[in-house]
Amino acid sequence: MTIAAIIVAAGRGRRAAGPLPKQYQQLAGIPVLARSIEVFARHPQIGKIIVVVNSDDLALFAQRIKPHCGDAVHCVSGGETRADSVFAGIAAAEGAQKVLIHDAARPLVTQDLISKVVKALETHSGAAPALAVSDALWQGADDRVVACVPRDGLYRAQTPQGFQRETIMAAHAAHIGGASDDVEVALAAGLDVAIIEGEETNLKITYASDFQRAERILGHSMDIRCGNGFDVHAFCEGNSVTLCGVTLPFSHGLLGHSDADVGMHALTDAIFGALAEGDIGQHFPPSEARWKNAASDLFLGHAVARVQARGYRFGNADVTLICEAPKIGPHAGEMRAALAGIMEVDMDRISVKATTTEKLGFTGRGEGIAAMATVTLVKS
Ligand code: MG
Repeated sequence: MTIAAIIVAAGRGRRAAGPLPKQYQQLAGIPVLARSIEVFARHPQIGKIIVVVNSDDLALFAQRIKPHCGDAVHCVSGGETRADSVFAGIAAAEGAQKVLIHDAARPLVTQDLISKVVKALETHSGAAPALAVSDALWQGADDRVVACVPRDGLYRAQTPQGFQRETIMAAHAAHIGGASDDVEVALAAGLDVAIIEGEETNLKITYASDFQRAERILGHSMDIRCGNGFDVHAFCEGNSVTLCGVTLPFSHGLLGHSDADVGMHALTDAIFGALAEGDIGQHFPPSEARWKNAASDLFLGHAVARVQARGYRFGNADVTLICEAPKIGPHAGEMRAALAGIMEVDMDRISVKATTTEKLGFTGRGEGIAAMATVTLVKS
């Protein structure tokens, strides 16, 4: 029995202002829509994810959202109205017995809430979260209260709203249009919809100020880690050195079991440090022949995969190369790009800089190169 999540992201979201529709804007470093998708993608009972995108936004989706969620997501074009878009999503969920219809603008939905809706669908033809209204309700006109409205039995509706797929599909096909959500469509078709206790944090991002509110909520659960790494390699005979993934012609080589990329080793160690997962030597023992002459992007790539597997993303990384020569400055941009490519982050999160030790010590005497690195990892 498959349960499909239909994430409706076809709206234009103009009330939130900003250069992009709100679902494509960043919320604490990740687009709103990618956050919504990610919660469903992690849920063990969700077998399929369909994202309904405005046909004008397909390129935006490919560029901004796809890198976060990969191939697990099926993208379909929306229609003229919200109901048309939902219908396109339900139609694309062929094979699923149940569907959870979720508004992309509610990125703080929790696994727990999804589970409760799924559970209620075992005994009801529809189920949706809502919060009982606790504030007094007024009717107003011209900035004046004209009446007080009894709040008994009133709820603020949320999503995901869950239904048996065939039933809600038929309900949509028969509906006259203009419904504000899918529960309204279900009620018009006479379906039984259970109310699940909603979550105050499951807010809908509508206005610009909602981004700040959502970021405050995320901030409370944000997990930030920092790691540092240090490495040294001695010069040896040779005619090039590889530093932060870039090979430079030089009067010497660097001695090492692998390609001796001292900068990338320090960075890789910083990542293992942030994860508290030992060090580069434990993951790639120099005693093992298979790492001989290995390109260090293999080591860094492994550390990056560990970051992703643990659910973190990179905040930033800063690498300092310590040597009298070669000159690093002219190549720093290329090094940053090489590291950013392996780490799958924007280049502005990666720094590569250099210093000397004023001719003091082993680096000052030109016996080798040292490197230090700091990295932050973020999970929210
Ligand atoms: Mg090393």
